[in-house]
Amino acid sequence: MSKIKRILVAGGAGFLGSHLCERLVADGHDVICIDNFFTSQKSNVAHLLERPNFELIRHDIVQPIWLEVDEIYNLACPAAPGHYQYNPIKTMKTSVVGSMNLLGMARRCNAKIFQASTSEVYGDPEVHPQPESYRGSVNPIGVRACYDEGKRAAETLFMDYHRMHKMRIRICRIFNTYGPRMHPFDGRVVSNFIRQALRGEDITIFGDGSQTRSFCYRDDLVEGFLRLMAAPDSVNFPVNLGNPGEYTIKQLAELTIELTGSKSKLVYRPLPADDPTRRRPDIKLAKKHLQWEPTIPLREGLQKTIDWFKTIDFEQYRPPTPNF
Ligand code: NAD
Ligand code: UDP
Repeated sequence: MSKIKRILVAGGAGFLGSHLCERLVADGHDVICIDNFFTSQKSNVAHLLERPNFELIRHDIVQPIWLEVDEIYNLACPAAPGHYQYNPIKTMKTSVVGSMNLLGMARRCNAKIFQASTSEVYGDPEVHPQPESYRGSVNPIGVRACYDEGKRAAETLFMDYHRMHKMRIRICRIFNTYGPRMHPFDGRVVSNFIRQALRGEDITIFGDGSQTRSFCYRDDLVEGFLRLMAAPDSVNFPVNLGNPGEYTIKQLAELTIELTGSKSKLVYRPLPADDPTRRRPDIKLAKKHLQWEPTIPLREGLQKTIDWFKTIDFEQYRPPTPNF
């Protein structure tokens, strides 16, 4: 069989999706990117449009689509809290109805299918660091539930399609990932802090800044995606991908100020509802089954991200939501 595959990337114009498309196109695969551009812009994939093995379709995965493919990566879903809370019902539909549409396509085509799940399935965790066996602590009726419960329901669908129809599935639980091509107005902490620092604006710390996150550079993560997709079919259980280095949000603010040389001041704002207090991946399964672990430390990845933010024209980015 040919090593060149027809690969669908749903949400392929987004921050992570565009990098994944780049890697797959470079590897010679026939790549179809579908995206409704809710949280992204065509400029993320404009450089791929001239490649003969890349195709872009404006499409919303909540609607069915008929394509013939060998592999599917489902990354379509708003990922930043401000984005997914903008229209929470649509967020839930994207994770549930959208996943069902893609699972249906995978079943018809006998394609292997990958779900971009999230550390949010662990909610505000009581277990630290979080292994895949931890079932989580999610508020099912809170403002983050549209995303957390949507992603949990998607995992359920993937497992049930696998059990009922013997489908080849992959589930990746992604922890906070950052890097060039993040939307500068997505409201996520890395993009907010860098934008604020470069413009000399106040750096907004929510709460007292003692909450923690573990930040993975996007190149490390995308390498993990490819390894998970290529793993044996027995790896049909969720696998955490993320960088175990854990930082408080205040530490991230201070590092951003140091690396940008900014004169911005730290200011404190109320903590959003249900904001997890700490988060760090246990990556034993990824090490064992994928021989994967992150290689890029925060300082280095943050510097690369800052360098990219310096090259962009903020005016070219539409703030998609008022919630940042
Ligand atoms: P992103 O917002 O840049 O990318 C998501 C893409 O999906 C965007 O291009 C958006 O326009 C598209 N999209 C949204 N709804 C759609 C729909 N109904 N139909 C078609 N396209 C749709 O975010 P990202 O950071 O690149 O995240 C990609 C995936 O990874 C998401 O599923 C997200 O939940 C998951 N994830 C990301 C992180 C992270 O830290 N970046 C962490 C956990 C999980
Ligand atoms: N945060 C912050 N200031 C900001 C944006 C975010 O202090 O301007 C905090 C937020 O409250 C959370 C952490 O940074 O504790 C990570 O937020 P983000 O939205 O990036 O992702 P999350 O991991 O919460 O989904």
